[in-house]
Amino acid sequence: MKKSNFLCPKCKGHLNAGGYVIFSTKNKRKQRGLVLLSPKVGSYSVKYHESYGFEKGEAIDFACPICSKSLHAKENSENVSIIMVDENDTEYKVLFSRIFGNQSTYVLSNDDVEVFGDDAVEFDDLLEDSDFL
Ligand SMILES: [Zn+2]
Repeated sequence: MKKSNFLCPKCKGHLNAGGYVIFSTKNKRKQRGLVLLSPKVGSYSVKYHESYGFEKGEAIDFACPICSKSLHAKENSENVSIIMVDENDTEYKVLFSRIFGNQSTYVLSNDDVEVFGDDAVEFDDLLEDSDFL
């Protein structure tokens, strides 16, 4: 996965800028800030302002910085869901954990799921609602 573009599933706005994927977030203390994630799937480096932050294990609220809609996955509300388009214009749905410190990413294409991260589980175990798929 080299040059992937990430899009908001709600407004189709581009979430990439300056080499990062950018999100509007809120922590448990109701503070708000931008979070920059690596566009490399399976990389968990994260950037945010030094006076903003998270505690390990807390659920971060993720929203699109363009349309402000929530990006929480309908498949599992502890995950964020966005669209990834790779250099071949193939579209994937990407889910990743919104629990701070949890490293798990699921890349879904039509008939396949690729799983990344030390904390990932079987994708089937992630589904809260069995009418998905
Ligand atoms: Zn949006």
